[in-house]
Amino acid sequence: MKTPAQIEQMHVTGRFVGEVLEQLTASARVGVDLLDLEQQARDLIRDRGATSCYWDYSPSFGRGPFRNVVCTSVNDAALHGLPHAYRLRDGDVLSLDLAVSIDGWVADSAVTVVVGTASEDDAHLVRTTEAALAAAIDAAVPGGRMGDVSAAIEAVATAAGYGVNAEFGGHGLGRTMHEDPHVSNRGRAGRGLRLKPGLTLALEPWLMTGTDQLVVDPDGWTLRSADGSRASHSEHTIAITEEGTVVLTRRASEVG
Ligand code: MG
Ligand code: MG
Repeated sequence: MKTPAQIEQMHVTGRFVGEVLEQLTASARVGVDLLDLEQQARDLIRDRGATSCYWDYSPSFGRGPFRNVVCTSVNDAALHGLPHAYRLRDGDVLSLDLAVSIDGWVADSAVTVVVGTASEDDAHLVRTTEAALAAAIDAAVPGGRMGDVSAAIEAVATAAGYGVNAEFGGHGLGRTMHEDPHVSNRGRAGRGLRLKPGLTLALEPWLMTGTDQLVVDPDGWTLRSADGSRASHSEHTIAITEEGTVVLTRRASEVG
């Protein structure tokens, strides 16, 4: 549990993460290489005196250590996309996921955009993932239950006809990128941990259009949809406070 002063420090980091994601999405045009976006993120992080939470990250599932500061997941890549030499094409679905620490306090956020012209299906997928995140944030209120958050994500996904894979989901964070509790993207309302002021969470629905199964790319990191269908990922870091829920990584261009 975090004090209001600690949450304010996480908000400083969160604003920066939001700014970097804004700049990267503005750069993500047709013909731009994923490695250029990685370099841009590195420069912004270095200039701010921030520290990437991804650099040297060696989780059980990846071929570690990770030597990048941003995850770039294109089209059928859902999560943990390893930046590589690839020039973005018209209609690509690109998700950018970023976690950094400033003065020892972490924020984690992801956004998905369609490069150039979006197909109707892809626009719907991205909108639905954003709606699932918004529903999760609305459900994460003081006095609520963790199951309310999970159920809110699942309900939006299911209503849109997408399956939900619960292998990877949200998480607590603060001094480090991954802390307890786990936030499943599937669950039952009214169950689970009681949500109290001081709790800081990364909420991160991610959806795939054709399957709920993942396969690991030969690169050892990138998780792709098993059937090659497209994927989208939206993430914000939030804090539950006495005054309600605050989105710490809100981007300037976002409404609400
Ligand atoms: Mg993330
Ligand atoms: Mg996360």
